[in-house]
Amino acid sequence: VALERANQTLERLARIDGLTGLCNRRVFDEELTRSWRTAVRDHQPLSVVLIDVDHFKAYNDHYGHMIGDDCLRAVGRVLEDSARRPGDLAARFGGEEFALLLPKTDLAGAIRIGQLVVDQVRELQIEHAKVPLGCVTISAGVAQVESDDHASPDKLLSAADAQLYVAKESGRNRCVG
Ligand code: GH3
Ligand code: MG
Ligand code: MG
Repeated sequence: VALERANQTLERLARIDGLTGLCNRRVFDEELTRSWRTAVRDHQPLSVVLIDVDHFKAYNDHYGHMIGDDCLRAVGRVLEDSARRPGDLAARFGGEEFALLLPKTDLAGAIRIGQLVVDQVRELQIEHAKVPLGCVTISAGVAQVESDDHASPDKLLSAADAQLYVAKESGRNRCVG
């Protein structure tokens, strides 16, 4: 029984991001593939929101890595609160990047949620002296599954990443889809 419990603990730790307590990249990738198959099979929408903290290198350089970690935890909590429906998944994608997986959510709905997360992080008013706005912001890119034959989970992610790039280039602190 002790061994069983230890194994369960290890299994759980392998799925959780140590810093934020969110699901890690491994879980996100598994769930993305699973949700993608379900969405295509059932002709349901599926959206992904990719999130990246703005000017986070400057934040770390100015405030230090420990405070940087606190900031990531705060962003993680906002993400966690935004994943409300069953099947929604908030994950730490790696570094200062996060992702939301939103089954049965179309592009418009996902952009709404992404924008809400962007607004909520800004409203935390975490001081960031090295940016004009004076506080930490995030950018978000959104994509929805297209049920054509060439689509794949990877293409969905790439599409969201391309939108994230647009959000960055057009001024950050915004959600683009
Ligand atoms: P952009 O607005 O274009 O996203 O610029 P950026 O500075 O956020 O992007 P860049 O990729 O240059 O820097 C990311 C920084 O995130 C660099 C690294 O020090 C920091 N970082 C990544 N993972 C962690 C972490 O786990 N903890 C802390 N404190 N910092 C991290
Ligand atoms: Mg980044
Ligand atoms: Mg960044």
